[in-house]
Amino acid sequence: MTELQRDSNYQWTGEAVECTSGIHWAIAEQANGTVAIIVNSPGGILTGKQVRVLAEIVGEDGVIKNTRRMTSLLLIPKEKVAAALEQLQAAGLRVANLHKSVRNIAACPGKGFSPNSRGDTLELARMLDEEFYGTILPWDFKIGISGCPRNCTGVQCQDLGLMAEPRGKYSLWIGGTESGMSPKHGMLVLKGIPRDQVIPVVGRILETYISGAEEFKEELGNRARLYRVIEKTGFERFKKAVEELLSNGAVSK
Ligand code: SF4
Repeated sequence: MTELQRDSNYQWTGEAVECTSGIHWAIAEQANGTVAIIVNSPGGILTGKQVRVLAEIVGEDGVIKNTRRMTSLLLIPKEKVAAALEQLQAAGLRVANLHKSVRNIAACPGKGFSPNSRGDTLELARMLDEEFYGTILPWDFKIGISGCPRNCTGVQCQDLGLMAEPRGKYSLWIGGTESGMSPKHGMLVLKGIPRDQVIPVVGRILETYISGAEEFKEELGNRARLYRVIEKTGFERFKKAVEELLSNGAVSK
């Protein structure tokens, strides 16, 4: 099984962002000449102190745009990018990515906030981010978590979706995509995954994805989104990989 590799090293050259592993970090010049920096914030959570830092970076009349993936997009002049990256780091914030890694993890408010919730979403988003931020992947990989079947995060429209069930369990879907000209709903892999097995299960899905993309590299090219890999390998390969892991007793986190 392919081992997961991570890389969160990139360089801002003064003109563009560069990363040797191929991850596209979210620092990009816009059509109007400003530079957009997307701030990683799993579940869309920022502390008051972090929000203040973002406001300082853009300045009083500057703009922060909230994105559909629960991130803050800072719009700043190019000459301020290097200083902004230092300010983000000092505030414990990391830059999000656009391609070839796990995108900012979307999660609804979940347990403790939403009265409908069946389980935790935000802490799980944080843990998944800690484990998989900067993982080198064949293309974009979007994860979404909903706290109940009202499904405010649209888990079937993500590459990997988790939905809380009662008693600390989660259902897992894979292979969805919300964007592009052919949006797709993902397929249900399994219900009843214990919370402490979620991270190993996600890891196994990523490993299976990487090895499948490698196997069908010639046909898939270098933008192999998960649903395209599943079309080649078959869904059963992914389902079996998860079932095997769970039957062998996955390593608890
Ligand atoms: S998915 Fe359920 S728990 Fe999450 S915000 Fe919506 S209603 Fe609340």
